[in-house]
Amino acid sequence: MKIIDRLKEDRIHISFEVFPPKTDEGIDKVLGATAEIAKLNPAFISVTYGAGGGTSRNTAKIASYIKDDLNVLSLAHLTCASSTKEEVREVIENLKSLGIENILALRGDIPANMAFPSGNRFRYACELVEEIRKHGDFCIGAACYPEGHVENEHKEDDIKYLKQKVDSGVDFLTTQMFFENDIHYNFLYRIREAGITVPVLPGIMPITSAAQMKRSQELSGTVFPRRFLSILDRFGSSPEAMRQAGIAYATDQIIDLLANGVKNIHIYSMNKPDVAAAIMNNLSEIIKC
Ligand SMILES: Cc1cc2nc3c(=O)[nH]c(=O)nc-3n(C[C@H](O)[C@H](O)[C@H](O)COP(=O)(O)OP(=O)(O)OC[C@H]3O[C@@H](n4cnc5c(N)ncnc54)[C@H](O)[C@@H]3O)c2cc1C
Repeated sequence: MKIIDRLKEDRIHISFEVFPPKTDEGIDKVLGATAEIAKLNPAFISVTYGAGGGTSRNTAKIASYIKDDLNVLSLAHLTCASSTKEEVREVIENLKSLGIENILALRGDIPANMAFPSGNRFRYACELVEEIRKHGDFCIGAACYPEGHVENEHKEDDIKYLKQKVDSGVDFLTTQMFFENDIHYNFLYRIREAGITVPVLPGIMPITSAAQMKRSQELSGTVFPRRFLSILDRFGSSPEAMRQAGIAYATDQIIDLLANGVKNIHIYSMNKPDVAAAIMNNLSEIIKC
């Protein structure tokens, strides 16, 4: 089944994300965590894609395990910046042979030792979307950035290129994490004005430790609001308290989004079934509405 068909159903959908292990040895642990997350009955589970080697192979393996063994819809991420066009085509054909119907098409970060992708590489995610379309009837998602992508000085350029990307054949968008819902509402308003009409899944990251916050900030350049910083300041040195506060903060963000008419939420659950389960428990009655 295609994720876009599920998103069209008039009900609340909560999805989760897992990431592959750095080496093949860690695969069983990730499959175990994924199986626990599947018990929460998510709309789908997405699997991130690393740059080459074992992690990229394992994305397809985990995505087909989710679909075939756990009977949950899976979304395989695919990046193109660090691979040749031929390598990317091989991955798409492999996903097709595994019966994976849903792909999140991403450019990926430009590796530090590489100039901007050119020649035999896809330069932007929109080119990857066009390529995937040539290989079969996939449902294609793509990324968007409510606070603007770090490479773009002007947010309006970001929206102009996002429109081009969606027009190249994107079915739905998932946002970069954000910690202030007003940023998301403002972004939604601006992209709808620009004529982008596909479903947008807000990406919510439960931050359960100070170290995780630092990593998230480095990766996404997101702004942490004062309300979140106070939590970190007060509870950051107590792991259990910070975990509880981080889950409460993410739950609060989700409840506000749902109360404001958002139907689809993507949770960056980071291979932590306990955190995913705690949030779902907090929402148990709310998601029935
Ligand atoms: C939901 C989500 C999931 C992610 N999953 C992964 C993952 O699994 N693995 C991973 O490595 N990374 C992942 N990332 C990170 C992502 O790969 C990086 O943010 C990357 O730098 C941009 O990827 P993109 O697909 O958004 O690129 P693009 O859409 O190609 O955009 C990249 C930059 O180029 C600009 N641009 C686009 N088109 C043009 C054009 N025609 N001319 C000029 N400029 C243009 C954009 O405005 C933007 O600044 C994810 C990000 C998100 C939000």
